[in-house]
Amino acid sequence: MKRAIAVGVAILYSSLALGQIARTEITTWQYGKRGAVSLTYDDGTINQFRVAVPIMDSFGFPATFFIITGNIPGSQYHGTFIGRPAKTIIAETAKIPTNKDNFFERASAIGYLGYQGTLDYRTRAGELYDERKNLEQAYRLLDEAYAKLRQGRFSPREPHGSGSDPNVITWDELLTLSHRYEFASHTVTHPRLAVLDDANLTYELEKSREDILNHLGFKHTFSVECPYGTENARSVRAALLRYQLARNHMPDENVEDLDRGSDMDPATSDKEYVRWQRGALTETPMALMKSWVDKTAKQDNVWLVLVFHGVDGIGWKPKTAAELKDYFGYINSKTGSLWVATFQDVGKYIRERRQATVSSFQDGNTISIVLRSDLSDLSYDLPLTLKTSVPNTWRQVEVQQGDRTTHIAVVETKDDHYALYQAVPNAEVVTLSEFTEK
Ligand SMILES: [Zn+2]
Repeated sequence: MKRAIAVGVAILYSSLALGQIARTEITTWQYGKRGAVSLTYDDGTINQFRVAVPIMDSFGFPATFFIITGNIPGSQYHGTFIGRPAKTIIAETAKIPTNKDNFFERASAIGYLGYQGTLDYRTRAGELYDERKNLEQAYRLLDEAYAKLRQGRFSPREPHGSGSDPNVITWDELLTLSHRYEFASHTVTHPRLAVLDDANLTYELEKSREDILNHLGFKHTFSVECPYGTENARSVRAALLRYQLARNHMPDENVEDLDRGSDMDPATSDKEYVRWQRGALTETPMALMKSWVDKTAKQDNVWLVLVFHGVDGIGWKPKTAAELKDYFGYINSKTGSLWVATFQDVGKYIRERRQATVSSFQDGNTISIVLRSDLSDLSYDLPLTLKTSVPNTWRQVEVQQGDRTTHIAVVETKDDHYALYQAVPNAEVVTLSEFTEK
């Protein structure tokens, strides 16, 4: 932070000698919009791509898909137990009941043994532990699962698909979409992370990232959603060590983070930004969904993060194609005030803006602007939107940064006369000058 401030101050003083200081601010949202909307989809079920993507394409909307990488044919990593030999663990369960010391190891192992029905036991034990905080009942459920296992009552599960199943998306198809959509991690196998031990928790987060990196590239390793919207602190902390942004929790102090279960009105928050997560499920009324959009457009600090699961009959609590068309059309009618962007782009914008300093000065017919940010991570490469007051006589402006030149119309309001444009932090000085067509 210190260095960025020093640069800003130096420019400010030198500008006093050269000319007058011009007024520049970084707008709250990109393109000077009043609010942001991100469309997010969980679990990577097929109709998200076959049905929802064409609808979003018709409006030019980007979106973010949280994908379960172990389900995709050609992935290097699938569900695997990392730890002591399963045989040893199973033998111990005959003598020692499940307790706080062996719970995580047993919960981890039971889901990866390759039998039909064992995974379901872990999911249920995970829910008891993570949501209902009923540890005793979770331990007893694992005892039941291991007893059945020792008695040979589970049958082996089918191996992973070959890639010819039309109901499973492929990496090739995702790569084609990766230029206009964001892909993000939803772990390798969609477990209840809260009941995994450290080794298996790490595997689920890291190996999912690795498959995404190898198939889709670095850009798609920014975001994560730990399954079941968990707020388990250990899981979310582990996720945030490996990803920049989690939908489960955003710890930034200038952000009010309202999850899907929160009933707080975002308008009552006094934070700089409100991340307002809402789930659009089968039973969610369209009128309610539209009211979220209205509220976001009415405030100036709300980021509406919409969470979809199933689409047109496939996946959890699906929405129909007709509902999506209606809803996205409604959002589209508000794009004068709303910035529709991927989950990562909005997260980046909020952080880049907070860490940026901007200074500008006018010398004759040129305004120069220096935009600095002290976010060193290479992921933070999104241009910020600047708003600079320009002389009353200007009608059009030439904006130049490095070898990029654009021409824009001056925005005139009752009490301001300004240029609204995009600038890249930590790059060349931006210059604005009056532009007149020849
Ligand atoms: Zn999920």
